[in-house]
Amino acid sequence: MINIVLFGPPGAGKGTQASRLVKKYNLFHLSTGDVFRFNIKNETDLGKLARSYMDKGQLVPDDVTIQLLISEVEKHPEVEGFIFDGFPRTQPQAKALDEILTQRGTSIGMMLALEVEEEELKKRLTLRAIDSGRPDDADPAVVQKRIQVYNSETAPVLDFYRAQGKAVLVNGVGEIDTITDRLYAEIDAVIG
Ligand code: ADP
Repeated sequence: MINIVLFGPPGAGKGTQASRLVKKYNLFHLSTGDVFRFNIKNETDLGKLARSYMDKGQLVPDDVTIQLLISEVEKHPEVEGFIFDGFPRTQPQAKALDEILTQRGTSIGMMLALEVEEEELKKRLTLRAIDSGRPDDADPAVVQKRIQVYNSETAPVLDFYRAQGKAVLVNGVGEIDTITDRLYAEIDAVIG
């Protein structure tokens, strides 16, 4: 059993790869972006709040996001391990995640950071907008803002896990299957 942070900029392929990893390692996929979109679809108060940030390419505030994460983790006491996708996105979120897992008697085993350069991300998000129906993918100004927010607020999370010796960089460019194999190899090296 292992808890994994799947990390990377918007469009790096976190969601695609997470759905493969959960099957192979019997993990639970927890995507904060998916939970926010579920709430938007169901027109909850949380959804309305989250939307006001997401539509602009900004992060939902830490206090709201951390509370959401805690309640999602608590909803699934039976799971053997989580893949956190899109969380943590700030250093305070990373610290909170450590605390939540410590309380459950567990911890993050590794952070897998998908590396994809900016021009490729923009191409992928533009393509994804056609199928995803996500307004934050369709507007180039919002995409640019998300990448900028990633660079300023989220990239430092890598240092947080580096300091713990848990960060593993993975080339996120290539065939989807090839990238999955790279991730499998890194996970297998850690779980033995
Ligand atoms: P992507 O990684 O492709 O940008 P996500 O689905 O992970 O897509 O996130 C979409 C949006 O949801 C983000 O731009 C942000 O507004 C919000 N969001 C998701 N996760 C978080 C988080 N951990 N903290 C703050 N905001 C978040």
